[in-house]
Amino acid sequence: MADNKLYDILGVSRNASDNEIKKQYRKLAKEFHPDKNPEAGDKFKEISYAYEVLSDPKKRSTYDKVGLKGMQEGAHQGFDDPLSHLFGGGLFGGFGGFGGGSMHRRQRGEDTIHPLKVTLEDMYNGKTSKLQLSKNVICTSCSGTGNKTGEPPEKCHSCNGCGMKVTYRSLGPGMAQQVQSCCPDCRGEGEVIKEKDRCTTCHGQKVCNETKILEVHVDKGMRENQKIFFRGEGDQQPNVEHGDVVIILQQKPHERFERKGNDLYMKHTISLTEALCGFTFLVHHLDKRDLLIRHPAGNVIKPGDVKTVSQEGMPVYKNPFERGNLYITFDIKFPEDHFAPEDTLKQLESILPPRLAFSMPEGEHVEEVDLVDFDPNERSSNSGSRGEAYASDDEEHHRPGMQCVHQ
Ligand SMILES: [Zn+2]
Ligand SMILES: [Zn+2]
Repeated sequence: MADNKLYDILGVSRNASDNEIKKQYRKLAKEFHPDKNPEAGDKFKEISYAYEVLSDPKKRSTYDKVGLKGMQEGAHQGFDDPLSHLFGGGLFGGFGGFGGGSMHRRQRGEDTIHPLKVTLEDMYNGKTSKLQLSKNVICTSCSGTGNKTGEPPEKCHSCNGCGMKVTYRSLGPGMAQQVQSCCPDCRGEGEVIKEKDRCTTCHGQKVCNETKILEVHVDKGMRENQKIFFRGEGDQQPNVEHGDVVIILQQKPHERFERKGNDLYMKHTISLTEALCGFTFLVHHLDKRDLLIRHPAGNVIKPGDVKTVSQEGMPVYKNPFERGNLYITFDIKFPEDHFAPEDTLKQLESILPPRLAFSMPEGEHVEEVDLVDFDPNERSSNSGSRGEAYASDDEEHHRPGMQCVHQ
C-alpha cells in the first residue's frame, strides 16, 4: 500500500480534485512562505514538492501507485527530484516497511554530474541548450571484453587478485586510518588481460571515449540546483547498468532581479520629487516586455517601501501560466545641499506638513553644540569600546578610573 504523505502535507484527501489541490497549495504556500514564516524551515519545500507531484497528473498517478519511496527509487527513471535530500534526510522517515529495498536493485555505474550555468532569462522563458560531453562507451571491437584472443586473463599482481588495496592514511602523530580502496591496476576486477591479448581498439580498457551532444531542456520556472536526468547516458561499463548524466542548473546572477522561489525582487531608486509627486518608469522584464509602472501623485513612497506587481514573478515550474510576484523596494534620492535658495525653501515649507512646535528653554544649562558629518573612521578619544580605549597610546587622555588604581 502506497503512502499518503503528500496528500497529508497539503491536507487534502486522496481523491481531491486538481482545483482543490491548487487552492489548498496556494493557501499553505502563503502561510509558510519563508518570507513570512522563516521559522517554518523545510515546511515550505515539503508543500512545494507535494504540489509539484500532485499537480502533475502523470506524477500523481505514479505516486498513487508506488508512494514516496517508490518515487525516490524511480528518481533515476526520469523524475527530477530536486528535493531528494529532504526525503533522504529523514524528514519523511518512518514510512518504511520495505526493508532490504536495495536488494532488487542492479549494480549501477556512476552518474556523471554536470553543472549547467543558465541565465534567469533562460529559466523564465525556457531554453534548449546543447551540451557536449565526453563519455566512456563499451568498446565495439571486443564487445567490452578488452580481449582480442579470448585467452583467459591473469591474476592482478598489484592486489593479488582480490581487487582491493589497503592503504594507511595518517591522521596525526601515531595515528593512522586503514583505508580500503579499489585496486587501480585491475579496477577492482582482480584480474588483468595479458599485454598480447589486449584489444587494440580500447587497449584492454573495455571502453572507448566518445563525444556526445545532449540537448538539455531548461523548462520555464526551473530552479537553481534543479536536476535534469538523462537516463543511461552516463559512462558505460561492462556488466553494469549504465549511469545517468545528471545536469544541475546553476543560475548566473542577474543585474536587475533577484529570485526567491517563484518571486522576483528588484530595487528602484526614485527622486524625492517622484516620491512625493508621483512617477512613471519602465521595468524591462526577462521576456523583453517593458512593464509600465505608474504611481499617482500624493501617494507618498518612503525609503525602503516595498510594492508588489502581482503575477510578474517567475513562471511556476510545470504550471507556467501561473507566476510568482515581482517585489520592488524603493530607495529615495534626496536633493543635494543648497539645491534651492533659502527664500524658495520657505515656500516649500509652506506646503509641507508643519514642523513640531519648539520652545526654547530658559536657563544656563542650555548649551548649543555643532552638528557635523559623521565619519565612521574617525574615533573619538573618549568613546568606543573598552578595548580600544586601553589599546590607545594617547598619553594625554588617561581615564580617571585607571589613575585611581595607581594612587
Ligand atoms: Zn588489482
Ligand atoms: Zn576493445
